[in-house]
Amino acid sequence: SIETFYRDSWAEVELSAIDFNIKQLKEILHEETDVYAVVKANAYGHGDVQVAQQALESGASGLAVSLLDEALKLREAGIDAPILVMGWTRPEDAKLAAEQDIAVTVFQQEWFAKVKTSALSKPLKLHMKWDTGMGRIGIRSTDEMDEILSYIKEDSRFVLEAVFTHFAMADDEDLTHQSQQEQRFHELFSHFERVWPENVEIHTGNSAASMRFPERMKHFVRFGISMYGLYPSSIVKEERPIDLKPAFSLQSQLIHVKKIDANESISYGATYKTAEPEWIGTVPLGYADGWIRKLQGMEVLAGGKRHPIVGRICMDQFMIQLDDEYPIGTKVTLIGKQGDSEVTVDEVADYLETINYEIPCMISYRVPRMFM
Ligand code: PLP
Repeated sequence: SIETFYRDSWAEVELSAIDFNIKQLKEILHEETDVYAVVKANAYGHGDVQVAQQALESGASGLAVSLLDEALKLREAGIDAPILVMGWTRPEDAKLAAEQDIAVTVFQQEWFAKVKTSALSKPLKLHMKWDTGMGRIGIRSTDEMDEILSYIKEDSRFVLEAVFTHFAMADDEDLTHQSQQEQRFHELFSHFERVWPENVEIHTGNSAASMRFPERMKHFVRFGISMYGLYPSSIVKEERPIDLKPAFSLQSQLIHVKKIDANESISYGATYKTAEPEWIGTVPLGYADGWIRKLQGMEVLAGGKRHPIVGRICMDQFMIQLDDEYPIGTKVTLIGKQGDSEVTVDEVADYLETINYEIPCMISYRVPRMFM
């Protein structure tokens, strides 16, 4: 799709990679196990509406987001697939969620006490969250479960659609914590089965669990990072349970090229000085675009080769040291491939001592997303 913009930096989102990754996962899952595409945080920075539409077309049966606002945006775009808000929804917003047929996550008595069911014009779909070892949100005991179930039983406007949990270490080499979480889930579930006669759906797995333990997945999985073509950890990357294609790349162009004398400095604070006469290129992207100052020293691609970022990264621009003169307009790839050279999201994450999830998320709203 062509979006109109008037700058030389943009992100490319390969929708065929999203399609590929979902199909790869579906190959190893049970036939009955569905995929919910996790498109929170603007689809991990990729573009929520476009990714959601592609995921649904590629076989995802629903969508998962973190916030009600994110779910509403998808509804406004005309998406009528099931949507789950996995985070906290305020009790006063339950009415809006019900009106828009958006399922919410529940785990607190106080929440039920505050939701005025009289205000609900439509049934409200609920997914009960069980905290089996993430320590974030969710009920932890059968007592809490019983209290919540009694609220749900009392009012026909509440529809318990599913129960779920989230794993903290499904991507780790050491699976002790993972086993403990699964064990706790089974304990809670055996109680649930005794007290709740109606059928509900079960969903437990994120990318790591769904790729590594596909045989243990239930009605659906919540597929996030690996739908975007990234492995959730270096261990899973080594194990490579399925092939993945990264969807995200980040592009710019040289807007200025000059030869600078020896012993001249570059950018704020004069942190870099030319050792000899050097070709320096200016790239129109900076920390306001999410290319943060800590990326000083990181390499980018131009003319199929690697070139280091020299001097401080500015709000809107940074400089690279070139091995030769390059014309204005030369393509600069910050994430992605040029010929045989590649800078991966994982390499940027390693440089910043963080996880790959954070990298596309931090590329700001100011960088247009182009869907290929
Ligand atoms: N489920 C929940 C509750 C989440 O918070 C997330 C994202 O962090 C996911 C699923 C998707 O996880 P991943 O991106 O590792 O697949």
